[in-house]
Amino acid sequence: MQLSKHKKHGLVFQLATAAALSLVGLSQSAWAATCSATPVAIQVLGSGGPIAEGGRASTSYLLRVDGVPRLLIDSGSGSFLRFGEAGASLSTLDAIVITHLHADHVGDLVGILKSGSFEDRVTPLPIFGPAGGGRFPGLKDHLEQLLSPKSGAYGYLGGYLDGTEGKPRIDATEVVTDDGNAASLVKSLPSGIRLTLIPVNHGVVPAFGVLIEVGQKAIVIGGDQSAFSEAFEQKLANRRPDILIAHHVIPEGEGQPIGLHRSPTAIGLLAQKLDTGRLVLSHNMQRSLSRLEEGLAAIRKNYGGEIVVANDLDCYVP
Ligand SMILES: [Zn+2]
Repeated sequence: MQLSKHKKHGLVFQLATAAALSLVGLSQSAWAATCSATPVAIQVLGSGGPIAEGGRASTSYLLRVDGVPRLLIDSGSGSFLRFGEAGASLSTLDAIVITHLHADHVGDLVGILKSGSFEDRVTPLPIFGPAGGGRFPGLKDHLEQLLSPKSGAYGYLGGYLDGTEGKPRIDATEVVTDDGNAASLVKSLPSGIRLTLIPVNHGVVPAFGVLIEVGQKAIVIGGDQSAFSEAFEQKLANRRPDILIAHHVIPEGEGQPIGLHRSPTAIGLLAQKLDTGRLVLSHNMQRSLSRLEEGLAAIRKNYGGEIVVANDLDCYVP
Protein backbone atom coordinates (compact mmCIF):
# COMPACT_ATOMS: atom_id res chain seq x y z
CA MET A 1 0.00 0.00 0.00
CA GLN A 2 1.29 3.40 -0.98
CA LEU A 3 0.81 6.15 1.56
CA SER A 4 1.10 9.84 0.88
CA LYS A 5 4.00 11.62 2.56
CA HIS A 6 1.53 13.26 4.93
CA LYS A 7 -0.14 9.97 5.85
CA LYS A 8 3.22 8.27 6.26
CA HIS A 9 4.27 10.93 8.73
CA GLY A 10 0.93 10.60 10.52
CA LEU A 11 1.27 6.81 10.80
CA VAL A 12 4.84 7.05 12.02
CA PHE A 13 3.75 9.65 14.57
CA GLN A 14 0.86 7.47 15.75
CA LEU A 15 3.07 4.40 16.09
CA ALA A 16 5.75 6.38 17.89
CA THR A 17 3.17 7.91 20.19
CA ALA A 18 1.63 4.52 20.96
CA ALA A 19 5.07 3.10 21.70
CA ALA A 20 5.91 6.04 23.92
CA LEU A 21 2.63 5.78 25.78
CA SER A 22 3.04 2.06 26.34
CA LEU A 23 6.56 2.64 27.66
CA VAL A 24 5.29 5.31 30.03
CA GLY A 25 2.46 2.98 31.06
CA LEU A 26 4.82 0.09 31.71
CA SER A 27 7.30 2.09 33.72
CA GLN A 28 4.56 3.81 35.65
CA SER A 29 2.81 0.58 36.60
CA ALA A 30 6.14 -0.86 37.73
CA TRP A 31 6.74 1.85 40.34
CA ALA A 32 3.08 2.61 41.04
CA ALA A 33 2.45 -0.90 42.33
CA THR A 34 5.29 -0.57 44.82
CA CYS A 35 4.55 3.00 45.76
CA SER A 36 0.83 2.70 46.32
CA ALA A 37 0.54 -0.75 47.86
CA THR A 38 2.68 -0.19 50.94
CA PRO A 39 2.26 1.83 54.16
CA VAL A 40 5.59 3.61 53.69
CA ALA A 41 7.68 4.12 50.54
CA ILE A 42 10.36 6.51 49.41
CA GLN A 43 10.26 7.44 45.74
CA VAL A 44 13.28 8.85 43.95
CA LEU A 45 12.10 11.71 41.76
CA GLY A 46 15.59 12.73 40.73
CA SER A 47 18.50 10.27 40.81
CA GLY A 48 21.06 12.45 39.05
CA GLY A 49 23.49 15.25 39.80
CA PRO A 50 24.05 18.83 38.67
CA ILE A 51 25.20 17.99 35.12
CA ALA A 52 22.59 17.57 32.36
CA GLU A 53 23.99 14.28 31.12
CA GLY A 54 21.17 11.83 30.55
CA GLY A 55 17.71 10.84 31.68
CA ARG A 56 18.13 11.73 35.31
CA ALA A 57 16.64 14.71 37.10
CA SER A 58 18.70 16.35 39.84
CA THR A 59 18.10 15.42 43.46
CA SER A 60 14.54 15.00 44.72
CA TYR A 61 12.65 12.44 46.82
CA LEU A 62 9.02 11.89 47.69
CA LEU A 63 7.90 10.09 50.84
CA ARG A 64 4.59 8.29 50.49
CA VAL A 65 2.44 7.17 53.42
CA ASP A 66 -0.29 4.73 52.41
CA GLY A 67 0.54 5.64 48.83
CA VAL A 68 -0.10 9.36 49.32
CA PRO A 69 2.78 11.81 48.73
CA ARG A 70 3.38 13.51 52.10
CA LEU A 71 6.90 14.87 52.06
CA LEU A 72 9.02 16.36 49.28
CA ILE A 73 12.74 16.31 50.01
CA ASP A 74 14.71 18.57 47.65
CA SER A 75 13.52 19.86 44.32
CA GLY A 76 16.54 19.84 42.03
CA SER A 77 16.43 20.75 38.36
CA GLY A 78 14.14 18.37 36.47
CA SER A 79 12.16 17.34 39.53
CA PHE A 80 9.19 19.45 38.39
CA LEU A 81 8.62 16.93 35.60
CA ARG A 82 9.04 13.90 37.85
CA PHE A 83 6.79 15.45 40.51
CA GLY A 84 4.02 15.53 37.92
CA GLU A 85 4.78 12.04 36.60
CA ALA A 86 4.58 10.73 40.18
CA GLY A 87 1.09 12.19 40.49
CA ALA A 88 2.20 14.47 43.32
CA SER A 89 0.68 17.82 44.24
CA LEU A 90 1.12 20.41 46.97
CA SER A 91 -2.35 19.58 48.28
CA THR A 92 -1.35 16.35 50.03
CA LEU A 93 2.08 17.40 51.33
CA ASP A 94 2.80 17.72 55.04
CA ALA A 95 5.98 19.66 54.30
CA ILE A 96 8.84 20.40 51.91
CA VAL A 97 12.46 19.90 52.98
CA ILE A 98 15.39 21.53 51.16
CA THR A 99 18.65 20.02 52.39
CA HIS A 100 20.81 22.84 50.97
CA LEU A 101 20.66 25.61 48.43
CA HIS A 102 22.74 24.20 45.59
CA ALA A 103 20.73 24.55 42.37
CA ASP A 104 20.66 20.79 41.81
CA HIS A 105 18.68 20.51 45.07
CA VAL A 106 16.36 23.52 44.85
CA GLY A 107 16.28 24.68 41.22
CA ASP A 108 12.72 23.53 40.48
CA LEU A 109 11.11 24.71 43.73
CA VAL A 110 9.52 27.73 42.08
CA GLY A 111 8.15 25.59 39.25
CA ILE A 112 6.55 23.22 41.73
CA LEU A 113 5.09 26.16 43.70
CA LYS A 114 3.76 27.67 40.47
CA SER A 115 2.10 24.34 39.65
CA GLY A 116 0.60 24.29 43.14
CA SER A 117 -0.94 27.71 42.62
CA PHE A 118 -3.52 26.01 40.39
CA GLU A 119 -4.64 23.83 43.31
CA ASP A 120 -7.07 24.78 46.05
CA ARG A 121 -4.85 24.19 49.08
CA VAL A 122 -5.32 26.89 51.73
CA THR A 123 -3.62 25.36 54.78
CA PRO A 124 -0.08 26.66 55.31
CA LEU A 125 2.75 24.51 53.98
CA PRO A 126 5.83 24.13 56.22
CA ILE A 127 9.17 24.28 54.45
CA PHE A 128 12.50 23.48 56.10
CA GLY A 129 15.92 24.56 54.86
CA PRO A 130 19.32 25.67 56.09
CA ALA A 131 20.19 28.93 57.80
CA GLY A 132 22.60 31.07 55.80
CA GLY A 133 26.37 30.95 55.78
CA GLY A 134 29.20 32.17 53.56
CA ARG A 135 27.99 32.78 50.02
CA PHE A 136 24.68 31.10 50.72
CA PRO A 137 21.58 32.91 51.95
CA GLY A 138 19.36 31.19 54.46
CA LEU A 139 16.12 29.62 53.32
CA LYS A 140 14.07 32.67 54.33
CA ASP A 141 16.23 35.09 52.34
CA HIS A 142 16.23 32.65 49.42
CA LEU A 143 12.44 32.61 49.40
CA GLU A 144 12.32 36.41 49.69
CA GLN A 145 14.69 36.72 46.73
CA LEU A 146 12.37 34.52 44.71
CA LEU A 147 8.91 35.53 45.90
CA SER A 148 8.97 39.01 47.45
CA PRO A 149 6.17 41.03 45.76
CA LYS A 150 8.48 44.08 45.71
CA SER A 151 11.86 42.68 44.73
CA GLY A 152 11.55 38.95 44.10
CA ALA A 153 12.40 37.43 40.74
CA TYR A 154 8.93 35.83 40.78
CA GLY A 155 7.17 38.46 42.85
CA TYR A 156 3.89 37.63 41.14
CA LEU A 157 3.88 34.44 43.25
CA GLY A 158 4.34 36.53 46.41
CA GLY A 159 1.06 35.27 47.84
CA TYR A 160 3.00 32.23 49.02
CA LEU A 161 4.82 34.43 51.55
CA ASP A 162 1.69 35.68 53.32
CA GLY A 163 -1.08 33.30 52.23
CA THR A 164 -2.87 35.85 50.03
CA GLU A 165 -4.07 35.68 46.42
CA GLY A 166 -5.46 32.19 46.95
CA LYS A 167 -2.12 30.63 47.76
CA PRO A 168 -1.17 28.66 50.88
CA ARG A 169 1.36 30.43 53.08
CA ILE A 170 4.70 28.67 53.15
CA ASP A 171 6.02 28.65 56.70
CA ALA A 172 9.81 28.60 56.54
CA THR A 173 11.96 27.15 59.31
CA GLU A 174 15.73 27.44 59.12
CA VAL A 175 18.08 24.77 60.43
CA VAL A 176 21.41 26.01 61.83
CA THR A 177 24.15 23.71 60.55
CA ASP A 178 27.52 25.04 61.80
CA ASP A 179 29.61 22.92 59.39
CA GLY A 180 27.72 19.83 60.51
CA ASN A 181 28.17 20.33 64.24
CA ALA A 182 24.88 22.00 65.23
CA ALA A 183 22.01 20.24 66.97
CA SER A 184 19.34 18.37 65.01
CA LEU A 185 15.85 19.77 64.51
CA VAL A 186 13.01 17.33 65.22
CA LYS A 187 9.47 17.83 63.92
CA SER A 188 6.35 15.70 64.00
CA LEU A 189 4.15 16.04 60.94
CA PRO A 190 0.40 15.41 60.60
CA SER A 191 0.66 12.11 58.72
CA GLY A 192 2.58 10.41 61.52
CA ILE A 193 6.00 11.30 60.12
CA ARG A 194 8.79 12.09 62.56
CA LEU A 195 11.33 14.23 60.79
CA THR A 196 14.88 14.76 62.12
CA LEU A 197 17.05 17.22 60.22
CA ILE A 198 20.69 16.47 61.04
CA PRO A 199 23.45 18.91 60.05
CA VAL A 200 26.25 17.57 57.84
CA ASN A 201 29.52 18.85 56.47
CA HIS A 202 29.26 19.77 52.79
CA GLY A 203 32.32 21.98 52.50
CA VAL A 204 31.32 25.61 52.99
CA VAL A 205 27.69 24.93 52.08
CA PRO A 206 25.18 24.92 54.96
CA ALA A 207 23.50 21.52 54.62
CA PHE A 208 21.77 18.75 56.51
CA GLY A 209 20.67 15.14 56.08
CA VAL A 210 17.26 13.74 56.92
CA LEU A 211 16.02 10.91 59.13
CA ILE A 212 12.41 10.02 58.36
CA GLU A 213 10.56 7.76 60.78
CA VAL A 214 7.06 6.44 60.24
CA GLY A 215 5.96 3.91 62.84
CA GLN A 216 8.88 1.51 63.24
CA LYS A 217 10.33 2.28 59.81
CA ALA A 218 13.34 4.52 59.31
CA ILE A 219 14.81 6.04 56.17
CA VAL A 220 17.96 8.16 56.14
CA ILE A 221 18.73 10.50 53.25
CA GLY A 222 22.33 11.53 53.76
CA GLY A 223 22.13 14.36 51.24
CA ASP A 224 25.30 15.93 49.96
CA GLN A 225 27.90 15.38 52.66
CA SER A 226 31.62 14.85 53.03
CA ALA A 227 33.26 12.21 55.19
CA PHE A 228 33.91 15.01 57.70
CA SER A 229 30.34 14.52 58.92
CA GLU A 230 31.27 12.54 62.04
CA ALA A 231 28.60 14.30 64.10
CA PHE A 232 25.96 13.06 61.65
CA GLU A 233 27.11 9.47 62.19
CA GLN A 234 27.12 9.89 65.96
CA LYS A 235 23.60 11.32 66.05
CA LEU A 236 22.34 8.27 64.17
CA ALA A 237 24.27 5.76 66.24
CA ASN A 238 21.17 4.35 67.90
CA ARG A 239 18.80 4.39 64.95
CA ARG A 240 19.46 1.67 62.40
CA PRO A 241 17.82 2.79 59.14
CA ASP A 242 15.96 0.31 56.98
CA ILE A 243 17.14 2.33 53.99
CA LEU A 244 20.12 4.65 53.64
CA ILE A 245 20.16 6.83 50.54
CA ALA A 246 23.73 7.97 49.87
CA HIS A 247 24.90 10.35 47.19
CA HIS A 248 27.14 8.68 44.66
CA VAL A 249 28.76 11.82 43.33
CA ILE A 250 32.44 11.02 42.96
CA PRO A 251 34.38 7.91 41.96
CA GLU A 252 37.07 6.34 44.08
CA GLY A 253 40.57 7.73 43.80
CA GLU A 254 42.79 10.79 43.70
CA GLY A 255 41.71 14.23 42.58
CA GLN A 256 38.10 14.06 43.74
CA PRO A 257 36.36 16.79 45.80
CA ILE A 258 36.33 14.82 49.07
CA GLY A 259 35.81 18.05 51.01
CA LEU A 260 32.31 18.14 49.53
CA HIS A 261 31.32 14.50 49.01
CA ARG A 262 31.88 10.98 50.28
CA SER A 263 33.98 8.66 48.16
CA PRO A 264 32.56 5.15 47.63
CA THR A 265 34.82 3.93 50.45
CA ALA A 266 33.40 6.61 52.75
CA ILE A 267 29.84 5.67 51.69
CA GLY A 268 30.58 2.05 52.62
CA LEU A 269 31.89 3.14 56.01
CA LEU A 270 28.74 5.17 56.66
CA ALA A 271 26.51 2.25 55.65
CA GLN A 272 28.49 -0.04 57.93
CA LYS A 273 28.36 2.35 60.90
CA LEU A 274 24.62 2.90 60.55
CA ASP A 275 24.13 -0.84 59.89
CA THR A 276 21.52 -0.06 57.27
CA GLY A 277 19.35 -2.80 55.85
CA ARG A 278 19.72 -1.47 52.31
CA LEU A 279 21.95 1.09 50.65
CA VAL A 280 20.47 3.09 47.77
CA LEU A 281 22.93 5.03 45.61
CA SER A 282 21.44 8.22 44.19
CA HIS A 283 22.76 11.58 42.89
CA ASN A 284 24.42 9.32 40.31
CA MET A 285 26.79 11.16 38.04
CA GLN A 286 28.38 9.72 34.90
CA ARG A 287 31.83 10.10 36.39
CA SER A 288 30.73 7.70 39.15
CA LEU A 289 28.59 5.40 37.02
CA SER A 290 31.37 4.95 34.47
CA ARG A 291 33.47 3.48 37.29
CA LEU A 292 30.63 1.69 39.07
CA GLU A 293 32.34 -1.69 39.51
CA GLU A 294 35.30 -0.02 41.15
CA GLY A 295 32.97 2.04 43.34
CA LEU A 296 30.90 -0.98 44.41
CA ALA A 297 34.10 -2.86 45.30
CA ALA A 298 35.18 0.10 47.44
CA ILE A 299 31.81 0.13 49.23
CA ARG A 300 31.99 -3.65 49.72
CA LYS A 301 35.24 -3.32 51.67
CA ASN A 302 33.12 -2.21 54.63
CA TYR A 303 29.48 -2.94 53.87
CA GLY A 304 28.02 -6.35 53.06
CA GLY A 305 24.31 -5.54 52.75
CA GLU A 306 22.11 -4.94 49.72
CA ILE A 307 23.16 -2.13 47.36
CA VAL A 308 20.98 -0.71 44.60
CA VAL A 309 21.58 2.09 42.10
CA ALA A 310 18.52 4.32 41.91
CA ASN A 311 16.83 5.52 38.75
CA ASP A 312 14.23 8.28 38.50
CA LEU A 313 10.80 7.28 39.86
CA ASP A 314 12.09 4.11 41.56
CA CYS A 315 10.21 3.33 44.75
CA TYR A 316 11.79 1.71 47.81
CA VAL A 317 9.93 0.12 50.70
CA PRO A 318 11.62 0.17 54.13
ZN1 LIG B 1 25.49 20.12 47.03
